Order: sequence, then structure tokens, then C-alpha cells
Amino acid sequence: VSASAIDAERVIADLRELDRRTGGSDGAQRVAWTEGWRSARSFVGELLGELGIEPDQDAAGNLWARLPGRQPEPGLGLGSHLDSVPGGGWLDGALGVMTAVGVLRAFVQSGRTPARTLWLIDWADEEGAAFGHSLFGSSAFAGMLDLAAVSLLRDREGTPIAEVLAQWDVDLQGALAAGARRDRLRGYLELHIEQGPRLESEGLPVAAVSGCVGVERHRLLFSGAAAHAGSTPMELRHDAGLSAMETALAVERIARSAGGVATVGSLSLQPGIATAVPGQAELLLDLRHADAAELASMLAASLSAARGSAEERGCEMRSELVWSAPGTAFDAHLVDCARAACRTIAGTERTLPSGALHDAVAVASVLPVAMIFSASIGGVSHERGEDTSEADLVAAIRTFALLVERTLDD
Ligand SMILES: [Zn+2]
Repeated sequence: VSASAIDAERVIADLRELDRRTGGSDGAQRVAWTEGWRSARSFVGELLGELGIEPDQDAAGNLWARLPGRQPEPGLGLGSHLDSVPGGGWLDGALGVMTAVGVLRAFVQSGRTPARTLWLIDWADEEGAAFGHSLFGSSAFAGMLDLAAVSLLRDREGTPIAEVLAQWDVDLQGALAAGARRDRLRGYLELHIEQGPRLESEGLPVAAVSGCVGVERHRLLFSGAAAHAGSTPMELRHDAGLSAMETALAVERIARSAGGVATVGSLSLQPGIATAVPGQAELLLDLRHADAAELASMLAASLSAARGSAEERGCEMRSELVWSAPGTAFDAHLVDCARAACRTIAGTERTLPSGALHDAVAVASVLPVAMIFSASIGGVSHERGEDTSEADLVAAIRTFALLVERTLDD
């Protein structure tokens, strides 16, 4: 089976049919643990049924389908997620699952047996739309699900997560048993849309993904002295707001020179009225970089800029960690293979880190992993306007199929 054997048009037709069944003008309605998700899975079940393959579900609700190879175990995992955010896009996650179906179809229809067993995996609840916990199924598989914390989660109606999952034959306390299936795989490959504007801006249809950026999220609190806006001369002020704003601008410069990204997504001032100098200011800082050392130095430089600005204005600054996640590097050899597949199919090669989390990032903690991104028009995702040109989809599907073929032969 070669890349040209995969019927990319059929994969796109399947994606359109999925969108017709579970999406439409209000966007994709495939939130995990809902009826929309059930219809999406039963459609994939129908497609696999046409190939004589019957999927089953693991202890965390992940869907698995097997195409036996000449060497049975361990096999190669191919997948992504069918679940969406409410009103999401038609391609996020679905592209990877439907392309994996397309790879199995190419083998079955050509009558050839893959060198190794292929496993299609549709990870459960990647988006975390119902309970606010992303990567549920893939984290359980990787043994990284914090059961004590997850058990406390409730959906918008206040229903505990364990109760909802029980309706899907998932016993939350037993979800980590999904990890027993790790022995089935020796590697995992995922195709996903980029969900950002980089490929489009560089005129690339596809790229290899080197891993996932690390994240440092901190709350910075500045305290000065609230004072009357009219009667307090400029030189006698301790303006906490200006310290925060200066910090936001400094952080932008730091990110630009470090080649990372930094965002001050929230800035609040107290007392927050036109007639008072802000006595308190709080900002939320989100820093991301693929390189751990660069990320650490971005954080150090940002905090020192904040401290410096506070000192200059006679204010105080303290910071609190909100959340952090280390960066993930995918398997160097598989990433090379992914880059080579991009070159063969699209004539271009580019490797870039993912700025967003994916199931592959969780899986990468226990298995060699690589990903391919397809371009996203305007970088739009998580909404119904999410799209990729037909030509770029075809290139991405064929690139992924070639990567699978080469990895099987490896
Ligand atoms: Zn996704």
C-alpha cells in the first residue's frame, strides 16, 4: 500500500458525511459523552464494519479497531479524537480518525496485510468540553490521569463525572486499566489540523510536528498606593497599574527575542475607576516555548522585568504559579520520517512545535510518537469556520499514509 493507494477523496467525503450527521450550520456537536458523540462513533463503526472490522472500547472509553498484520504485536497506533467543543469545527480531531479509517481501508481493499498490526484509536474526551479536563482517554492510557482530582469534576448540570461516564460503560475508578493496552503498540502517529496560522503564512500544506511547547502560567500581583487622580502629583504616585502595563510590554519584547509566545490575557486594576490611581493590579501571564531552557529564561526575565518596574514606581510585586506543563519532544526518528513524508508528497519540509495540546502529547510519555499538521485557513479552529483547502487536505492525508507505510517497514 502506498500513499497513492489511500483514497483521500473518500476520506474527505467521510468527513463531510460526519459533519452532515453531527454538525452543520451551528458547527460540530460532538461533545464527549453526548448523543452527538455517540452518532459520530456509530458512523465510524459503520465505516469499519464495511471493512469487516469491529471496534471495542477500553476502560477509559477509548475506541480501538484492529487490522491484523504479519507481525501481530506490538502494532502501530493511528488515531485522534472524534469529540469536539460545542459548535466546533469539522476537522479538529475528525481528520485524524477518518484518515486512520482510510489507511485501514486502503489495506483491506488492496487485499494486502500490513507488516505490523494497525490499531485505530479514537481517544475519548480530548477536548474536555463537559468536565474541563482535556485529554481524558489518552491520559488514562498513558497512566497520567489524576483520579483523585478528576473524581471531583461535575458537568454544567452538576452531575458528577463518574455518573456520566457510567452511562458509557466507563467505571471512572477503573479508567487507568486502559494502560494495559500499552503493550499493543510500539508507536503512535496522529494527523491533525494545525489550528494556527503558521503553515498558511509560509505557504505550506503540511508539516512535521516536533513536539509540544511547554507552558508557564503565572498570576502577577502589583501593590502600590491608591490615590486621587486629580490631587496626587505624578512624581508622588505609586501606580500599580503602570507597573503591570509596563510588564505586559516587556513580556512581549522578551517573547519576541526568545522566539516563544507570551500573552497577558487578563489585566485588572483596583479600585478600577477613572478618578483613582490604581493601588492594586493583577495580570495573568502565559508563556510558551518549545525549549525548556528558553522557557525558563523567558519566565525569569518576565519576573525580573515585573520586579524592576514595581521597584521603580515604589510598588511591590509578587507572583503565583497558576499552572505549568513541561514541553514534550516527540520521537526524533519518527519526526524525521514525518518530515521526509512531507517532502515526498508536498515537496516542502518544515518541522514546528505544537502550541496546543493533543492526544499525541499524552501518548508521547509512554511511546514513540510523531504527528503531522495540515494547514488551517486563517488559523481558525474550535468554531464552525474552521477549514482547510481540499488540496491541502489531500496532501495531508497522503503524507500521513506515506508516513504509516514507511513506519511499518521500519
Ligand atoms: Zn483536536
